[in-house]
Amino acid sequence: MSSNTPAPVAPDNGLQTTAKPALLPQWRATPVLQWSMILHVFCAVLTALNPALWPWTLGMIILNHLLILATILIWPRSPLLGSNMVRLPKAATLRGEVALTFDDGPDPIVTPLVLDLLDQYGARASFFCIADKVIAHPELAREIIRRGHSVENHTNSHPHGFAFFGPGALRHEIDTAQIAICTTTGVAPGFFRAPMGFRSPFLAPAVERAGLRYANWTRRGYDTSATSAEPVLQRLQRGLAAGDILLLHDGRTVQPHGESPVILKVLPRLLEHLKSLNLKSVSLQTACNHVT
Ligand SMILES: [Zn+2]
Repeated sequence: MSSNTPAPVAPDNGLQTTAKPALLPQWRATPVLQWSMILHVFCAVLTALNPALWPWTLGMIILNHLLILATILIWPRSPLLGSNMVRLPKAATLRGEVALTFDDGPDPIVTPLVLDLLDQYGARASFFCIADKVIAHPELAREIIRRGHSVENHTNSHPHGFAFFGPGALRHEIDTAQIAICTTTGVAPGFFRAPMGFRSPFLAPAVERAGLRYANWTRRGYDTSATSAEPVLQRLQRGLAAGDILLLHDGRTVQPHGESPVILKVLPRLLEHLKSLNLKSVSLQTACNHVT
């Protein structure tokens, strides 16, 4: 592994190298928040005009909050929670590109092996890293960049309650991670993904404010809960086509008794499958900016 620290690279997509752009975008409520605010005002006015209706208006407010909760948990790729990328741009699709993405690393055992496998097949990928782990393994984070992949923002500490954070706490997780990753690797992440993919209705403005794009997935393998490669490969390969974004994990991996982690059994077969389909795995930054 190289001990050379790459020189800071200016992002070529208009992203700032610090977490707070000079010109902050205007705060815009996501669709689910807009409808919720309208409903709250409507119920308040209705209750003021006719106080006897309070059980009904309170019921509507409770139902509203339950529907938002259901959207967060059941429909993580919903456009109602803000814009999010679930496929690569059309130009990347026409070039026959797909995007492998790895969450929750870098891991000192698994990530180097993932990097070696990607090298064997000439594949490039995006690593959605937890900033705490980047700080713990700075050389590994720099090695990801050095091998032609991108390191993206997956929060500072991967808190499980992230989807229920308020706007200030969301911004703190995103901005702290952005600064830590940029300082360590010399390259600013261009994309963000929430822990477990659960998005708060307040998240989209915080992501936009940090100069990031939200990246979801087309298909995911659920490799952190599988104990064998087969079901993961089935989920990833069924209908696999150009433009797909695939979600895997190089951190928090499953390691059945005495065996190697499931991801290391999945990845060679997946890369072989991509090769047979003549699909090229590139980083999200390459796919979206056509950087070669
Ligand atoms: Zn994660």
